[in-house]
Amino acid sequence: MTIVCVALDLPLPRVFDYLAADSSESDIGYRVTVPFGRSFKTGVIVGWKTTSDQPADRLKTVVAILRDMPPLPGEWLALCKFCAAYYQASLGEVCALALPPMLRRGKLPREIKAKPNLGVAPAPTFSTSPALLPDQQSAMAEITVAKEYRCFLLHGVTGSGKTEVYLHAIAEVLGRGGQVLMLVPEIALTPQLENRVRTRFPSARLVVANSSVADAARARGFLDALSGRADIILGTRLAVFIPLPRLRLIVVDEEHDTSFKQQDGPRYSARDLAIWRAHQLAISIVLGSATPALETYHHAREGRYRLLDLPLRAVAEAPPTVHLIDIRREKLRDGLSQAFITALELRLARGEQSLVFLNRRGYAPVLACSACGWISRCHRCAANLVVHLADARLRCHHCGFEATLPRACPDCGNLDLQPFGRGTQRLEAALATLFPQARILRIDRDSANTPKKWQTLLASIHSGEADILVGTQMLAKGHDFPQLTLVGAVGADAALFAADFRAPERLFSQLMQVGGRSGRADLAGEVLIQTEYPDHPLYQALADHDYARFARSQLEERRSAGFPPFTFQALLRAESPAMAVSLEFLERVKGLASTLLENSASPAGAPQSPGNTIVLYDPVPMRLQRLMALERAQLLVESVSRAQLQNFVKHWVSAIHGLKPPRDLRWHIDVDPLEF
Ligand code: ADP
Ligand code: ZN
Ligand code: ZN
Repeated sequence: MTIVCVALDLPLPRVFDYLAADSSESDIGYRVTVPFGRSFKTGVIVGWKTTSDQPADRLKTVVAILRDMPPLPGEWLALCKFCAAYYQASLGEVCALALPPMLRRGKLPREIKAKPNLGVAPAPTFSTSPALLPDQQSAMAEITVAKEYRCFLLHGVTGSGKTEVYLHAIAEVLGRGGQVLMLVPEIALTPQLENRVRTRFPSARLVVANSSVADAARARGFLDALSGRADIILGTRLAVFIPLPRLRLIVVDEEHDTSFKQQDGPRYSARDLAIWRAHQLAISIVLGSATPALETYHHAREGRYRLLDLPLRAVAEAPPTVHLIDIRREKLRDGLSQAFITALELRLARGEQSLVFLNRRGYAPVLACSACGWISRCHRCAANLVVHLADARLRCHHCGFEATLPRACPDCGNLDLQPFGRGTQRLEAALATLFPQARILRIDRDSANTPKKWQTLLASIHSGEADILVGTQMLAKGHDFPQLTLVGAVGADAALFAADFRAPERLFSQLMQVGGRSGRADLAGEVLIQTEYPDHPLYQALADHDYARFARSQLEERRSAGFPPFTFQALLRAESPAMAVSLEFLERVKGLASTLLENSASPAGAPQSPGNTIVLYDPVPMRLQRLMALERAQLLVESVSRAQLQNFVKHWVSAIHGLKPPRDLRWHIDVDPLEF
């Protein structure tokens, strides 16, 4: 009897045995179609054996083992297994996620079918590249000398030449016949990077991998990588799973970016998986950022990662000057201070570009009736509906619900409805009134909702068709705007006192990134921040361009408060139509956890060592308590030991799988959560 163990895309913590008469151990890694329930499913063969725990007459037989593409290598399976174990997902779910949709469904792109076996093509040639500056050189020397696992943190402001270092390291690796995996937050936002890689390595085979690539092309890219034909993979978080037989270097650009963490299904961090992968393969990984995640920076300071600093800008002489505008005693005009308005006037007079940064899209965050107190609430979420005047809609930014903008109060009929607060659309309108002669361009997820629109907007900025840009953090992502000399941030203070302990870190990083857009070419840049807290250490560190100081003080705060990276966390979330049900379920789950911890004092089946470091918190409603008509609650578990937390969570989650949850309740676990 020969049996294959199949990982199927189901949220069940197990694999499934099937009879496969003509199979052998070498079939591990092939996709396979099997009967499941009343239909068929395609999964991945992850094991092979000759006996099963289940009685032979209960076992079903595979429909077909799909040997029309090379098997997924052991390294790929190991990565999926690690991901499943660490993030408490099922192996089948992770395998499904790791495959492009077409391959997941058991299909192949047409062109590939004809010629399944392909050899390795000749090594690529490169165009010339600039000689490295001294700091870049020393970084580069360290990266390429290592022929073992090393994790580097390449820390340098925008324009310090990080990308140039990546490109040199990539050239080295390609020259030795290796493959390179480069992960970026969002490719659609950075077409410049793709062009730069293409022009630098004109004959290298580059695969761009992200979810907006068409199905067949994605599958083809995956197969090119798997067969060793592709040299460079440039992709978003999903690309971390692409199998690469000659992988010698991984680069994670903008490693602090939260889009590396998946927020549904298996909640993996592509950056952390990339580090694990580099470790497994004993190769180098370079994490790059102007504002590293504090977790990453902490590891670098502790010596687990090697810190490589690029303290200077590669071309522009000086970083932009940062001025804090104290608005405590000033009456603002449409949210803008006089100093800011004057600075904008100056740029207009000189024919230079300005950028006004406000990280809130829409016209106003809420519409209100002054007569009866009605405000625009989403009926599905614990959130307000945002006023979008551009197309006269009210929109929920959480669930996507929309309605036409009411002309009268739905409760009392009052015609005088007032938008409160300010978003990018309102700022755009105010600037248009203040500067009627200026050409103003708004850039946010509404105006740039497709890659094509985004590229058109970028092109108009580059060709100098805009004087003032108004936008969200979308504008902060890796672009050169050569005529931009002024960046002003408004409404940033809100993030200083947000309940999320990561809010200051994000604010610093956003302001640093958006400020870095100014003064790149030969024009000096200036950054203005309107604030009621000009003495706040965050702003002071920003004014001094001192990430390290900011990071140290944040890490001190986190150490004394017991937050990551000094503790490790997992969140169990539950959602159901009623808050009482969600909370009650989490109480049960907490009870399970307490029992597990008590039993662990006795040696048999102990989920952890006696020195218990696991801290269980009480179930609480989530900050966004209601989303899409579901009431959400969460339970936080913490430990100073990652290993203990892992071990505990494993036993805990498998115990929760044994519970019968109330109808309509869904739960999931988020290990190393970023959102609370
Ligand atoms: P980062 O990735 O840190 O933002 P880049 O690598 O994009 O920095 O470099 C910023 C600018 O400086 C780019 O225009 C780049 O071409 C230029 N540059 C970087 N390194 C060098 C170098 N060694 N010689 C000449 N120009 C360089
Ligand atoms: Zn009213
Ligand atoms: Zn909503």
